[in-house]
Amino acid sequence: MLAIKTSATFAPPSRLRQPADFRLLRTWLGRHAHLLHVTECLLCHEGTNGGAVCGKCLQGLGRARVQPAGRCDRCYLRLSSKDAHCSFCDDRNVYFDRHISLYQLTPAWREILHHWKFHNGRRLYGLFRPALRRIRSELRNTRIDSVCYIDSGLLSRRNRRYQPCLDPARYLASLAGIPARAGLRKMKSTRQSEEIFNRRFFAVHDKIAPNGSSGGAVQILLEDLWTTGATANEAARVLKKNGVRKVIVLSLLLREETF
Ligand SMILES: [Zn+2]
Ligand SMILES: [Zn+2]
Repeated sequence: MLAIKTSATFAPPSRLRQPADFRLLRTWLGRHAHLLHVTECLLCHEGTNGGAVCGKCLQGLGRARVQPAGRCDRCYLRLSSKDAHCSFCDDRNVYFDRHISLYQLTPAWREILHHWKFHNGRRLYGLFRPALRRIRSELRNTRIDSVCYIDSGLLSRRNRRYQPCLDPARYLASLAGIPARAGLRKMKSTRQSEEIFNRRFFAVHDKIAPNGSSGGAVQILLEDLWTTGATANEAARVLKKNGVRKVIVLSLLLREETF
């Protein structure tokens, strides 16, 4: 870095000759970061070499990877230790065939998610790319016809200019050589119909409708965040009702009670 042409303004302070003075070096690097293509880490605000997150924080994000051991084969949630009982699958009709999740929603991932979705941090989807490559490799012997995501509709479009799940869906689809499509959309319900719905079923459901043609018999449904599983299950139900035979839910982040 010191090979760059220095002028009086850019020259590092002479005290840097004492190698232990990292604080000075950091201040100097911070001031001239733009010259060295160093940006600030989104999480710890230290310098990074061009990435959104520094190496140390990236490692922390990686450690939040969801491990499959001790989880239900179908819904991917933790089994109770006693009898391998799955409270999710035993309590309801499950419409998807399998769920896989990439990372636990740790405080660091929560912050990334927030920037990605609400601060127009579109390129942050890139943090999922290595894990998406791993999933593609794990599923290489599974037939998949398309990657589907839910178009979140006009209401959210007012807050951001892009569909967050579009980029990871497109990336995964490109690895597999299959199409990515907004096969479902969230419906904006009128107040009246919502009321009737609630009276009939005593519960609020996400209203999800099919969008365009089916997209094939076997689909990956890509979701940014799994919280209760209600949205994914309802989306899978709608896909199956419309002729999809097998639905694999892939959630980028998983919110479990430990976090
Ligand atoms: Zn950092
Ligand atoms: Zn289960």
